[in-house]
Amino acid sequence: MSEPDPSETLFERIIAREIPADIVEETTTTLAFRDISPQAATHVLVVPKTRYRDVGELAAADPALLADVIATAHRVADLDGLVESGYRVVFNTGADAGQTVFHVHAHVLGGEQLGFFGRYQEKPDEG
Ligand code: 5GP
Repeated sequence: MSEPDPSETLFERIIAREIPADIVEETTTTLAFRDISPQAATHVLVVPKTRYRDVGELAAADPALLADVIATAHRVADLDGLVESGYRVVFNTGADAGQTVFHVHAHVLGGEQLGFFGRYQEKPDEG
């Protein structure tokens, strides 16, 4: 049996359809799927199909692919009817920002009035 690829993250497995996800949009270069632990009425993750660790690496290596990620984020917002009301796109980058999956991803949040963001606070209870 081959060793697991140490660079592989959960999101490569979602892109490969090895792990199920609620996919909302797909392009040749990107995939968008609903976050398993939504922090707003709409909470979708947009990933490039090629892995970069974070948005800085992606911007340096392939700015056109970063533009594809943003275009897909806007398309997701449009599909969920958020363009008029507004939405937020967030790239958590590194430990202080709480990045947990090291395959760059945009969080698309909206569908309700969003709170301020910045300093650490506990996630609201689920359930
Ligand atoms: P980060 O904290 O790295 O910015 O965001 C990672 C996101 O991935 C989190 O919001 C988390 O809820 C989400 N997530 C973790 N595991 C899964 C999963 O198996 N499926 C989906 N759809 N989202 C996941």
